Amino acid sequence: MSDPEPTTDPRARLLQLRADLVAESDDTHRALQEIRRLRLDRSDDDEHDPEGAPLSGEWFRVDGLHTAARQRVRDVDEALADLDAGRYGSCRRCGEPIAPGRLEIMPTATRCVRCAGKP
Ligand SMILES: [Zn+2]
Repeated sequence: MSDPEPTTDPRARLLQLRADLVAESDDTHRALQEIRRLRLDRSDDDEHDPEGAPLSGEWFRVDGLHTAARQRVRDVDEALADLDAGRYGSCRRCGEPIAPGRLEIMPTATRCVRCAGKP
């Protein structure tokens, strides 16, 4: 890993990442449906079951993962659109090229390291 090969083309990398994220989004979506089902079963039995709280905690946790995965799919789609438009790899803030090493780690980066934390 210390010698990154510049062979992987960004589109292939983005499409691979997208496939992983879509799978994650699907998995978390199924998990949410399962939690919803368990909740419905439970409320039939005892609406005031104190055990209901951990289930909502789990719901929020998985819902957060699901939302994050979907947001990241949108980030990848944006990066793919940038690629088509020929502006992929340029910082949106200062217009300088984003370091290839940064794009390898973070293929959806839209800012260079210098601009990353800035408003
Ligand atoms: Zn910049």
